[in-house]
Amino acid sequence: MIKDELARLIKEGYNALGELEFAESTSGYLLYHWSNRNSLAETRIYRSVEDARQIARYDSRGAYRPLKGAPNLPNGWVIEVATIDELKKALDFFYPGAIGTWLGYHAGTVQPVCLRQTLNRQTGMYRVTRRLTDEQARNLVKDACRSDGRCLRTILWGIEDSQPPDFLPSSKCDPSVDQTGQNRAALPFLCLEACNLLVAAARTRMKESSS
Ligand code: SF4
Repeated sequence: MIKDELARLIKEGYNALGELEFAESTSGYLLYHWSNRNSLAETRIYRSVEDARQIARYDSRGAYRPLKGAPNLPNGWVIEVATIDELKKALDFFYPGAIGTWLGYHAGTVQPVCLRQTLNRQTGMYRVTRRLTDEQARNLVKDACRSDGRCLRTILWGIEDSQPPDFLPSSKCDPSVDQTGQNRAALPFLCLEACNLLVAAARTRMKESSS
């Protein structure tokens, strides 16, 4: 089970995922924003897993966060949970499916899907994205997915089938690199297929280029 794998990974020394850090405590586990690692006593304490869902929903200015991988989580809080199951659920509220995706990729049960395949599946108002050229696609991904301000996921897909994402900085494609720049023992936070927001950005790019 994923929670058992998470417990094993914590014992191995992993203590971070995206902007989050976690630690074992005398009563279970603590989960907090990395920027509070030295100031936990000054943060607001939460004790329900459901609080994670609410914290993950808005940034520090109260704006909705449509992209869960965006590096704009609010800080100033700590969630105390009693069990590894609760920690796993809280992490899933912040980064849905992230741990399962990593474990599946590691085990070889899930594979990256190239951007062309994702776009060729689009219908209706997004069908136009099928016409995105390779160059437009590369420029779009470099901008819309960059770790400094856009998304902390590590990209493992290329533009075409069997192509590596070698148009990106090597650090953006390396699961062992902590995308926050904190050099922590972070669990890989993978992107195995372009998300809906990137597809929507591709549509906007196509509309701009045709106007
Ligand atoms: S495509 Fe992947 S890396 Fe890019 S914004 Fe979406 S989730 Fe993040």
